[in-house]
Amino acid sequence: MSRNGERVLIIGSGPAGLFAALRLIELGKKPIVLERGKDVRLRRRDIALIHKQHLVDPDSNYCFGEGGAGTYSDGKLYTRSDKRATFAGFWKYLLASVHRKIFSSKRTPISGRINLPRIIAAIRACIRSSGGEVHFETRVTEFLLHDGAVQGVLDQHGNRHEARQLILATGHSARDIFELLHHKGIAIEAKPFALGVRAEHPQSLIDEAQYRCSQRPDYLPPASYALVDQVAGRGVYSFCMCPGGIIAPCATKPGEVVTNGWSPSKRNNPFANAGIVVAVEMTDLEPYAKYGPLAGVHFQRHVEQSAWRLGGERQSAPAQRMIDFTENKLSQSLPACSYQPESHRSYCRTCCPPRLATGCRKHSKHLARRCGGTIRTKPFSLRRNRGRVRLSGYAGSRNAGTPSNQRVVPLRRRRWLCWGIVSAAMDGERCAERAASLPLPT
Ligand SMILES: Cc1cc2nc3c(=O)[nH]c(=O)nc-3n(C[C@H](O)[C@H](O)[C@H](O)COP(=O)(O)OP(=O)(O)OC[C@H]3O[C@@H](n4cnc5c(N)ncnc54)[C@H](O)[C@@H]3O)c2cc1C
Repeated sequence: MSRNGERVLIIGSGPAGLFAALRLIELGKKPIVLERGKDVRLRRRDIALIHKQHLVDPDSNYCFGEGGAGTYSDGKLYTRSDKRATFAGFWKYLLASVHRKIFSSKRTPISGRINLPRIIAAIRACIRSSGGEVHFETRVTEFLLHDGAVQGVLDQHGNRHEARQLILATGHSARDIFELLHHKGIAIEAKPFALGVRAEHPQSLIDEAQYRCSQRPDYLPPASYALVDQVAGRGVYSFCMCPGGIIAPCATKPGEVVTNGWSPSKRNNPFANAGIVVAVEMTDLEPYAKYGPLAGVHFQRHVEQSAWRLGGERQSAPAQRMIDFTENKLSQSLPACSYQPESHRSYCRTCCPPRLATGCRKHSKHLARRCGGTIRTKPFSLRRNRGRVRLSGYAGSRNAGTPSNQRVVPLRRRRWLCWGIVSAAMDGERCAERAASLPLPT
């Protein structure tokens, strides 16, 4: 029970923050979750505004709000591990709260009557009923440090939230937090990331290529694919493939365009999409070297702003048919696609450095070949896909604030898991355990 336990602030209510809170409760602590966005129900309205009116609320959007970035997806639970017992056990909180059984495989949608918003609301209820707190529309803007020790944080309204420990679970998109950390002299480290485009094609085309039949029988699920390539020594690969999926506008600020993909749990949309991403290397970041560990963040912002300008200064995504992308021609027309805020005919390659665009272009040809050599006839749409800067969490206690401080602990991802909901949640748990094991200042 956490009611009288030591307070631990958790910034962010994505999978990392929520599972950190649950673990802290188990360890007898009192988690106080501060979330800049709204609860899962109210957040939907702001997402609708992005689709319909091209308005992006910097605190409530596809990435920010209760449940974090993947809340409205089918919640594919990725793990490359065969240790599925660990994986299933991971959802014990969910099983306890909604009394259902989840069957997991390496890539399973949470389907049927269980869906992510309901799970997340159940987790919130569980945290509150166990003595923890969850506060929405509370954006952390300042860390309160005294003599290097964490005292608490300030939110955007100037309210003070006190605690001697703090878990930062603000995800990949909270650039303001990266900047705040850097500004405070807390050591941060850039991690490798990838950046590219979203390729969309008719699901029937992928079915045909993968199942080798003209029409997918009902007993087969919409097909997916995973491609890995090397182009001029660089890794290029498909990422977050969404069968029967939708391309979503995932910008976190006005003036930027970012796309990501998700599948509804039935995967019954007529399109399939995937990120085609290229590994970003240090040489790509040279023009931003003056920003130190934030070079990648500035590079990413520059690309997203370029995409916004190319898209007509709205949430319309710059788009091109695949054949035109590979031949660097402006498309005469665009095919129907799942991206609701519209697409805008553009030269997509101009959004990012030529080396990255070339990687995407060559890999796209590979993809087209895999789809039966259809590159010259089938329409593909292209969307930008967000690169990721990984700095997902910190547990801090005394002496936080000095770069060499060992008590500010950047989380390391478990190698046998790939990025996503599962790895974030496991990082959250580990961070909670670390916070609970650190001695507190007297
Ligand atoms: C459209 C979409 C679909 C996805 N689908 C899947 C999928 O099917 N399967 C999968 O495994 N992964 C999926 N992902 C990826 C997955 O959602 C992320 O890997 C995961 O959410 C990361 O969890 P996190 O807790 O580290 O961060 P996040 O989920 O990003 O959560 C961080 C939270 O911190 C809050 N925050 C940020 N800054 C502050 C601040 N200053 N003050 C207070 N709060 C703050 C944010 O509002 C946010 O709620 C998807 C992502 C997107 C965008």
